[in-house]
Amino acid sequence: MTQTSTAGALFLLPEIESAIRSAILPAERILCVSHVSPDGDAIGSLLGMGWILGHLNKQPTLALADKPSADFAYIPGFDQIVGASAVADTYDLIICLDASSADRMGSVYRPALHGQTLLLVIDHHITNTNFGTLNWVAPGCAAVCQMLVYLADALGAPIEGGLAVALLTGLITDTLGLRTSNTDAHVLQAAMRLTEGGATIHEIVARTIQSRSFAGMRLWGAILSEAKLQERVIWATISQAQRKRAGAEEKEGEGLSGFLVSAKEADISATFTERFNSAGERVVECSFRAKPGFDVSQVALSLGGGGHPPAAGCTLAGPLEDVAAQVSNALKDARRSQLAARQAMAANAAHQNAAHQNAAHG
Ligand code: AMP
Ligand code: MN
Ligand code: MN
Repeated sequence: MTQTSTAGALFLLPEIESAIRSAILPAERILCVSHVSPDGDAIGSLLGMGWILGHLNKQPTLALADKPSADFAYIPGFDQIVGASAVADTYDLIICLDASSADRMGSVYRPALHGQTLLLVIDHHITNTNFGTLNWVAPGCAAVCQMLVYLADALGAPIEGGLAVALLTGLITDTLGLRTSNTDAHVLQAAMRLTEGGATIHEIVARTIQSRSFAGMRLWGAILSEAKLQERVIWATISQAQRKRAGAEEKEGEGLSGFLVSAKEADISATFTERFNSAGERVVECSFRAKPGFDVSQVALSLGGGGHPPAAGCTLAGPLEDVAAQVSNALKDARRSQLAARQAMAANAAHQNAAHQNAAHG
């Protein structure tokens, strides 16, 4: 049984659908790109777009500035992903997936060469800056891979085989296995379509969110023993020295922020990871998570990053400990003001309620 999703009409409005169609159909040379430090939704949506365009007899270049983890090599088409050095100077169309601002494309997108090319942005971050010529931004979708289910339907690409595996990967990783607060009926309906198309939830879970290395676990052990908790904000720093001692590679030990926020005593979590960027400079990657009712996207945006209310991040220069001290203070401030705003709203509602009752009894 296959059926098209009714949510497509909700998230892919007719005018956007027709604008996307007009951008894609005449284009011959197409570059698809997703964000630096690619996650499951970045890789899944990039490969998914490759499959959708393949159905239209297009042969896009699929590029990522950073090498994707080999953990995702199970997705058909994975070997076609190229690095920035294989990206040409001219294209008819550039499609950017799962990135909230142009800098997130990293070295793949060179403004001097690509700045005049039609840029189609497909994203679900609430902090998206609408940096494309054409922007399809749907914060109500849990993953760009969910949006691509609707696009595949609109363009008549059958949701099966490699496309289903690619899109279910992003849907599963961005929702932590269909468990985040934005996992609504539309997400489940999209997951059902992808499952009907032959992709398997438990296999993707086992290959992504439920798969860790021993070195990564040892790194978590070392870091967790030094985690800090103040004013219901929990945070931890991850230095290069700790990574070396645990024998953990650059990407091992990711996802700790999501674990930290599960502390009963915390509403907001952060990890601060020391890394070297492509220019060899020492930077601190900040990753934030919030329990429902709290929002870390605005703090991330104010620090030059972005994300969603429950999961956001930014990259800052500077010594690890200084960044951790400053940003954890900013998170405590944000939590305090969000709490105060909520309490003011509750007091206001109670006041109005009392006024109503008085009027009714008066
Ligand atoms: P992460 O904590 O790396 O899993 O990222 C959580 C969310 O924040 C994702 O939606 C990312 O796209 C976003 N994010 C993380 N780092 C940055 C950054 N430096 N700039 C913009 N958005 C970011
Ligand atoms: Mn992503
Ligand atoms: Mn995403």
